[in-house]
Amino acid sequence: MKKQWVVAAGAVVLLCSLAVVGVLVWRPWVKRNEPELAREAEDEPSEGEGTKEDEKESEEVQEESDGLESEAVVPEQPTVSAGEESGNCTINWGNLILINPNFMVDQDFIAARRGQLISISQTYGIPEYHYAGNGDNIMMPEAAAHLNEMLAAYRAEYPGHEIGTYSCFRARGTTCGRLCAATGASDHHTGLTCDLIDLAYGADLNSDDYAAHIEWQWLKANSYKYGFIDRFPEAWAGGLMSEPLNVDEHGSTGLYETWHYRYVGVGPATEIAMGKYNNGQYDSLEHYLKVTQGIVDLKNGVCRN
Ligand SMILES: [Zn+2]
Repeated sequence: MKKQWVVAAGAVVLLCSLAVVGVLVWRPWVKRNEPELAREAEDEPSEGEGTKEDEKESEEVQEESDGLESEAVVPEQPTVSAGEESGNCTINWGNLILINPNFMVDQDFIAARRGQLISISQTYGIPEYHYAGNGDNIMMPEAAAHLNEMLAAYRAEYPGHEIGTYSCFRARGTTCGRLCAATGASDHHTGLTCDLIDLAYGADLNSDDYAAHIEWQWLKANSYKYGFIDRFPEAWAGGLMSEPLNVDEHGSTGLYETWHYRYVGVGPATEIAMGKYNNGQYDSLEHYLKVTQGIVDLKNGVCRN
């Protein structure tokens, strides 16, 4: 009897030791993988979004990411001929800057850009509907002024309605599939972009809801007058969102997002919306820049210097 107790006690001690070792090994693994597991979508589509837990997770990741060095994915080095340059040659193109997976920016650019932005909440009272998400209600001053004019025009046309933002500037990207862009590859780094929505038509950012969202239809038809474009129109998505990301040499953006509006200035926005270089059909920023600014290779990020 006594021997059996000794064996049982020994077994308990052994199990406890295994549990302690297991926790020690597991915790660092979880810690290391947390950022990848917890990231939210580039534009926060409706799936898996909106709970308090998600928001808390997102904040924790934000804090962690802020302290890390660049998470940018470095693309393969392209072949560059004489008179051409690789890297993001559009950085000094003002409102026409291009940021996508083939034309990336580094942490220094992102930090410097952040310092140029103003609060559109404080300056113009533009509401922010997604406080805890990834992104701040800040923009380049010229874009902010035009956004304010645009939203005022919408309010005038639809009394009682209001468009607010879900996410404007982002210092970090996301890594959760096709609707995400890694840090360095997101249009939200430009300080010229906001995700826009009128909550009267629903709170989810989901392109399938386009027919119900009068504000997205209004923006598509009118935003160019204020210098904004539908940055990711369906016709330039480069395939279905269920297929692999395709940002190609012809000007596909890789994304279809009915809520994402980007300031480029009234002249370019008008030419893009009217399809001046796309047979009268809505253009993509990528294709427009290739035609008008002489980007040599949209796929590999090569410019004429
Ligand atoms: Zn967006």
